[in-house]
Amino acid sequence: MISEKMIKLTQSNSVIRAMFEEGNRLAAIHGRENVYDFSLGNPNIPSPPAVGKAIIDIVTTEDSVSIHGYMSNAGYPAVRADIAKSLNKRFDTAFTESNIIMSVGAAGGLNVVLKTLLNPGDEVIVISPFFVEYGNYVSNFDGKLVIIPASRFDFQPDAQTLRAAITAKTKAIIINSPNNPTGVVYTEDTIKQISAVLEEKSRENGSPIYIISDEPYRELAYDGVEVPYITKYYKNTLICYSWSKSLSLPGQRIGYIVVPSEIHDYELIFDAASIATRILGYVNAPALIQRVVAKCLDEQTDIAAYDKNRKLLYDGLKGFGFDPIYPQGAFYMWLKIPCDDKEFVEAAKKYNILLVPGAAFTCPGYARIAYCVAKKTIENALPAFEKLAKDLGL
Ligand code: PLP
Repeated sequence: MISEKMIKLTQSNSVIRAMFEEGNRLAAIHGRENVYDFSLGNPNIPSPPAVGKAIIDIVTTEDSVSIHGYMSNAGYPAVRADIAKSLNKRFDTAFTESNIIMSVGAAGGLNVVLKTLLNPGDEVIVISPFFVEYGNYVSNFDGKLVIIPASRFDFQPDAQTLRAAITAKTKAIIINSPNNPTGVVYTEDTIKQISAVLEEKSRENGSPIYIISDEPYRELAYDGVEVPYITKYYKNTLICYSWSKSLSLPGQRIGYIVVPSEIHDYELIFDAASIATRILGYVNAPALIQRVVAKCLDEQTDIAAYDKNRKLLYDGLKGFGFDPIYPQGAFYMWLKIPCDDKEFVEAAKKYNILLVPGAAFTCPGYARIAYCVAKKTIENALPAFEKLAKDLGL
């Protein structure tokens, strides 16, 4: 018999995955261009040309043994030093290579951090709605997921709700801003309030409660909105960054963890996270793409295209009587819906519109629209949304 945990996972259906398969089924019947698939957060904007150029430069000019070899588990020291310098320039921090561990995307970073921090039964707070994989990641290390709701008014986390959820077993809180699935960016005020509660409760518990800041969407913020840099507000923060979205490189699996020098147990955490990188089987983040991102630290995908989609979709949906949150970041729109979210998603499917129900993010009553699609898809989908709105009597 295989692992019971894994048997359960094979039985629990991933809604997003099911949508992906439904998309393929509908495309086979109606043609890909007539299916409006808003289910996946897979970037549709090409990587900047500098990425391809860096790959070619590295493989054609550098020593092949050294570019493909094993390295320190934390990653290439020179790459980590370049990242630290770039962060210092942007956020007025004082990191060095000793604060950076290269990771296999944000997902790899989160697993490394959770392995580093958790003892069985330790509680990890997440804010609903949240990226559903957090549940699996916490369970990987026998932690207990504690779910608190974000404010249903603006989807910012609420400090008093957080305070009430903290127990002597609370080890960490995962935050994610810009947020998947709501598109909300946490304000400086929110971060200050959360930090104050965590300081107070860490003192009460006699041990630190860590913030794990999951930041794959940091660069995807619109209208000049500020995304506060969390280590500046709360010293016991670990950041899990990724280039999956900012450089459209999700398949390359590359990111990093920031372990600030001020964090409680800094040396222990840095060493343990390097070992976790090794023993989780990553060994180190992929070599070639580490060197590539180091050459592209000032690059990012053209988010103007996401921005155009954001406005087009928002104005369209508002005009039909829907109630979306205007996203400040990421490439998701969070829609309040007038009926059961699963029924809504089924009704949308009749018009070949694929969305993810809020229940998939533990937040029924809403649906997520991933607008990292061609503008044409949105233009073609709007009449279908209009018909859907009419069916629902909006
Ligand atoms: N965290 C959030 C909130 C995400 O939306 C995703 C991917 O969509 C990830 C983490 C994983 O990202 P990565 O590809 O960097 O592992």
